[in-house]
Amino acid sequence: MTSAPHPPTTPEPGRIKAVCLDIDDTLLDNAASSRLGLRALIGNDAAWPVWRHTTEDHYERYVAGEVDFATMCVERTRAFFAAFGEQISDAEAAAREDYRMAAMQAAWRLFDDALPCLEWMRASGLQLAVITNAPSAYQRKKISHTGLAGAFDSMLISGELGVAKPDPRIFHAACESLDAAPHEVVHVGDRLDTDALGAADAGLHGVWLNRSGTEHAPPDGVSMITSLAELPELLVCDLPFAPEIPAQHAPGDPAPRETTRIGALTR
Ligand SMILES: [Mg+2]
Repeated sequence: MTSAPHPPTTPEPGRIKAVCLDIDDTLLDNAASSRLGLRALIGNDAAWPVWRHTTEDHYERYVAGEVDFATMCVERTRAFFAAFGEQISDAEAAAREDYRMAAMQAAWRLFDDALPCLEWMRASGLQLAVITNAPSAYQRKKISHTGLAGAFDSMLISGELGVAKPDPRIFHAACESLDAAPHEVVHVGDRLDTDALGAADAGLHGVWLNRSGTEHAPPDGVSMITSLAELPELLVCDLPFAPEIPAQHAPGDPAPRETTRIGALTR
């Protein structure tokens, strides 16, 4: 986590026009699908903590631009098996990674709170965008596979832009694509440092989606929710957002017949 100073929590005056969201472990349960991929690879997921930490280390190198995504995947898989004393070639690692990746992709699922939240925000007149640190084709496939193609006004993917969160340039590019000033935009993500604090440092409203609820208070400068079901209340009650449509169907309630389904949106 960063130790850099952050702006005060008091929002600047003005209406919230847009909400940006991270994808992995924010909208999509990436940890669950990755765990299933590991189980397909080795027959169980007992080594999940080792896989997760190995992935964290190698993914950092990808985000920093030190290796490409395919190389990262091969090196990560080699390092994982090496941790258990098995040395494998690049070709063998690539083959095992292909198998694991296919199993993981078949298990891609949105969190249950994702679609109701997206539909509420869209019905309330907010623009929506994603800001994600990953390769372009990989993330676009993920978005399409989970029925979110067409759900967003813009998609800011680090693999396309050449800059990654928490670099303020990717947050500012999102604002520009939405024709909104940073203080008119909220960004929500599961990473306190990369998402919430990065967004706050760029002048947006940073919201930390702390699904595990492991800490009770967010640091100065960011808001915290433990579920996307809490986001509408945060936007209306704590941030300067007034829905165009009265909040007549909170997430979890039956949707009215006129509600546009995100999966049916085309833009
Ligand atoms: Mg994430």
